[in-house]
Amino acid sequence: MEECLFCRIVVGSIPADIVYRDGRVLAFRDIDPQAPVHVLVIPVAHIGSTDELLSEHEALAGALVLAAARVAREQGVAEDGYRVAMNTGRNGNQSVGHLHLHVLGGRRMGWPPG
Ligand code: AMP
Repeated sequence: MEECLFCRIVVGSIPADIVYRDGRVLAFRDIDPQAPVHVLVIPVAHIGSTDELLSEHEALAGALVLAAARVAREQGVAEDGYRVAMNTGRNGNQSVGHLHLHVLGGRRMGWPPG
């Protein structure tokens, strides 16, 4: 998976501003932040998108969501609220083919998404 950008961040061959890490999950600041707090939460293991999630990933999927909530609290945006977003595929505007949750906070989000 060396060709995968986020797998390279996992192994440290591309630098990232890491805010949380455990055995299954890594969280780092987005390089092009769309909000005062913009962190990406990813599985350490390569999974391409939500479309590749299997029943065996149930615990990992929960760990990713819990890590997103933890990051929001630790980054100080939980009290005012924040958004967790997962873009999937072309219509979802996914640009990196490694599953990731965007945690966006520190400003009021619009709805519906553009
Ligand atoms: P998505 O468009 O949902 O696939 O989101 C991919 C995100 O990865 C974008 O918000 C990018 O700004 C972000 N990104 C791309 N390369 C890097 C990188 N090297 N470090 C941190 N974030 C990145």
